[in-house]
Amino acid sequence: MADFDLFVIGAGSGGVRAARVASSYGARVAIAEEHKVGGTCVIRGCVPKKLLVYGAHFAEDLDDAAMFGWDVPEKRFDWAVLRDNVLSEVGRLEGAYTETLTNHDVTIFKERATLIGSNSVRLASGKTITAEKILIATGARPLMPELPGIEHAISSNETFHLEKLPKRIIIAGGGYIANEFAGIFHQFGSHVTLVNRTDVLLRGYDQQVVDRLIQISIRKGIEFKFHATIEAIEKRNDGSLHVRMTGCDDIHTDQILFAVGRQPNTEGLGCDAAGVDVGEKGEIKVDADNRTNVPSIFAVGDVTNRVQLTPVAIREGQAFADTFFGKKPHQVDYDCIPSAVFSHPPLAGVGMTEGQARNRLGTVKTFTSDFRPMKNVLAGRNERSLYKLVLDGETDRVVGVHMIGPDAPEIMQAAAIAVKARLKKSDFDATVALHPTMSEELVLMR
Ligand code: NDP
Repeated sequence: MADFDLFVIGAGSGGVRAARVASSYGARVAIAEEHKVGGTCVIRGCVPKKLLVYGAHFAEDLDDAAMFGWDVPEKRFDWAVLRDNVLSEVGRLEGAYTETLTNHDVTIFKERATLIGSNSVRLASGKTITAEKILIATGARPLMPELPGIEHAISSNETFHLEKLPKRIIIAGGGYIANEFAGIFHQFGSHVTLVNRTDVLLRGYDQQVVDRLIQISIRKGIEFKFHATIEAIEKRNDGSLHVRMTGCDDIHTDQILFAVGRQPNTEGLGCDAAGVDVGEKGEIKVDADNRTNVPSIFAVGDVTNRVQLTPVAIREGQAFADTFFGKKPHQVDYDCIPSAVFSHPPLAGVGMTEGQARNRLGTVKTFTSDFRPMKNVLAGRNERSLYKLVLDGETDRVVGVHMIGPDAPEIMQAAAIAVKARLKKSDFDATVALHPTMSEELVLMR
């Protein structure tokens, strides 16, 4: 008999969910984690990032407060206070996640585990453990390009621990992390230069909405270098960095953050030893039931490089546990996953962009609302929101909703239900507006 029914490698969002649910069905479960229980999202991703986004927003809120009658005599930001508060909240959450596992009788090994066979793993301490099933949930890590001086650059992992805020920062990349941290550092007072290899930011989002973000970001003072690449980084005696560029002049800066994607954590995991197939990017290849080519080994979350989002990893972990330990087989539905970028202002989307709809459907209709939120008007902040509905021209079904503006991600979650439920524009029109809100624009587009 194997030591455990299930051995999970990696205690992030997907691994923790699978372990806890499998255990609740009566399975004997163990989990190994070499860093901290909680994984990327809780320890060095979504959660601390969102707290920084909240912190950053005060910069504008305090400016805007004057028009609402508040006298804020002096605005001063102390990075160390926010950083330490965020890290202590992360510590609290790590404790809560650990407690959830122990309350569900999951055995935790706080060390690295590697595969040594189809039903066995070896812990860093040397112990060998056998299991009926093994779940790989090791996540992904920031991709750092190989270039001279890369050791002087940081990834998103280090941003949460910075000793002090840089006066100037270069952010390489044009995706989620680059745009979120561009907003965060800018609000904290750093001069931000975003360097991107093309002129397309946030590929996959509706381009009209992305263009609005670029427009607002430029007006705020964020600098963009498109069609530009970092060639080398040289550290000067005063600690500053000289960055050799192609596509634009060299740049002198204090910090460089690379946000050019994330790569699956499969290096040294023992996939060879266990005979598990790995793809070109190092991702674990799985079928719709999260099963690898080895029948006893499964994988969920970022390590599979399908959709790198926490709620998706959680659903995959849940589906795996329900299917193989709860006798409730089901597969994750990847259609209409809402997503958001917590930039300043944030943007969000669900379903097809206008471009995707034009490629996939015969005829397409769009409705947009381009407006200045009431709060911005009184504050004298010249920042406009943009909401967009994409319709199948044949059926008038709303196949996509895209928006940029305050609280867009909060609004999008509800709008995503309508898109997922395949509602039509007439259903939106039939819904009475909730006044005065920004989201009422969704039912007022004519
Ligand atoms: P993204 O995939 O979002 O963006 C990567 C960016 O880097 C793109 O602009 C890409 O350009 C560019 N790029 C890729 N390779 C290179 C290279 N070799 N040299 C220069 N530029 C390059 O990655 P992130 O690192 O921002 O985030 C990783 C993932 O984490 C996201 O895909 C997302 O799934 C998740 N995430 C989600 C968040 C959220 O839900 N709010 C927040 C943060 C992360 P191009 O478009 O041309 O390929």
